[in-house]
Amino acid sequence: MVHAIFEDLDIVIVGGGICGLATALALHRKGMKSVVLEKSETLRASGGAIAIQPNGWRALDELGVASKLRSNGIRLERMHEIYLNGGKPREKFVDYSNIGEIRWVKRSDLIESLAQDLPLGTVQVGCQIFAVKIDANTSFPTLQLNDGTIIRAKKLHPSSGVRGFTYFPNGHGFAPELLRTIRDKTMAGVAPVNDNLLFWFVNHQYNYQDSKMVEDPKMIKQMVLETIKGFPQKTIDVIQNCDISSPSFNRLRYRAPWDILLGQYRRGTVTVAGDSMHAMTPFIGQGGSASIEDAGLSLARCMARKFQANYNNDHKDFKSKKMIEEAIDEYVNERRMRLVKLALQSYLSGTLVDTPYMLVKLIMLVLLSAFFRDKYAHVRYNCGNL
Ligand SMILES: Cc1cc2nc3c(=O)[nH]c(=O)nc-3n(C[C@H](O)[C@H](O)[C@H](O)COP(=O)(O)OP(=O)(O)OC[C@H]3O[C@@H](n4cnc5c(N)ncnc54)[C@H](O)[C@@H]3O)c2cc1C
Repeated sequence: MVHAIFEDLDIVIVGGGICGLATALALHRKGMKSVVLEKSETLRASGGAIAIQPNGWRALDELGVASKLRSNGIRLERMHEIYLNGGKPREKFVDYSNIGEIRWVKRSDLIESLAQDLPLGTVQVGCQIFAVKIDANTSFPTLQLNDGTIIRAKKLHPSSGVRGFTYFPNGHGFAPELLRTIRDKTMAGVAPVNDNLLFWFVNHQYNYQDSKMVEDPKMIKQMVLETIKGFPQKTIDVIQNCDISSPSFNRLRYRAPWDILLGQYRRGTVTVAGDSMHAMTPFIGQGGSASIEDAGLSLARCMARKFQANYNNDHKDFKSKKMIEEAIDEYVNERRMRLVKLALQSYLSGTLVDTPYMLVKLIMLVLLSAFFRDKYAHVRYNCGNL
């Protein structure tokens, strides 16, 4: 069933997450109207924090929302990595001054910043889309809200992790660094968001069949503390003292790089962006920034380039199916290789950490040094102007 109020809209975005809101904002900046349909009753404010790296900041600057986010967060100076495999712990420091601006941003702050510049009524909450179908008569898509069919992103490989915050009313005193500890398949990280707030995460292959456990923050915290026994006391203390309601369990899913390479990302005038197109492993922390690049800049730019000349109030020209398809094809072409490279680097880095086999580790190292000699080239990427 197509909901009447959505019938005549030119651009409908399904999902009010980072990518959906960035797309709506970019379109708005280009003078194009859209509506965002979000299934939750409010825009999702949970989900901890995400690291925004230089490419993400460039994209947020273009969208005009970076300065407020910057003022809320500490710029990190380095990564301090501790490896606990084998005998003696090994330490490594990565200086971020050569890499550029890296800050952890609360997901809720990012969502709010993107949403608050949108015209009233752009975001419609409580609208779950169950299917997108192509109308046989008009060949335009219709959105189905309740026919019981569920579209699922295919070929997603699962893993899991826990995120949380620890608040220090008198300041945490942590260095401006990401403290990351790795042992076998477990990775724990702690990083300051601001002077009072630390964000932490633990990635581990949890058995999340027990749904009660994954909904109870106390049980989640206990489970995490069990997992990180033997990790640096600093990390354990942070998690031990976390805000009691903050630990949340996340299923981390990723799309394999070869699926991104071969995927079809347009059906008629419908396309995908963000995690639906390229969910990635968290090892290079690029899912969010890539999502803002995708839709926030690339898709909106391609649409605007195609339609700006013809866009007018009665929208007649805008509705040319061929033009929309061409704009989407340009966007997919613009993004595909960028996303394949990000997903490949993320996949190889993840396998290097996860695999227990020396031979596989060696192969990953060879592939990483062959394809990604400059490990941080991806953060220097410039997605261009809006
Ligand atoms: C634990 C974790 C840590 C991460 N850390 C980082 C990081 O450090 N740096 C980084 O760059 N990235 C990180 N990422 C990745 C980043 O969060 C995602 O890449 C990014 O959120 C993708 O944005 P999105 O809009 O595609 O999806 P989401 O932000 O997940 O938003 C999707 C939205 O669509 C809505 N929705 C879903 N289905 C429907 C439907 N049928 N109808 C209507 N609405 C619907 C959902 O409710 C949601 O609001 C992390 C991800 C996770 C899970």
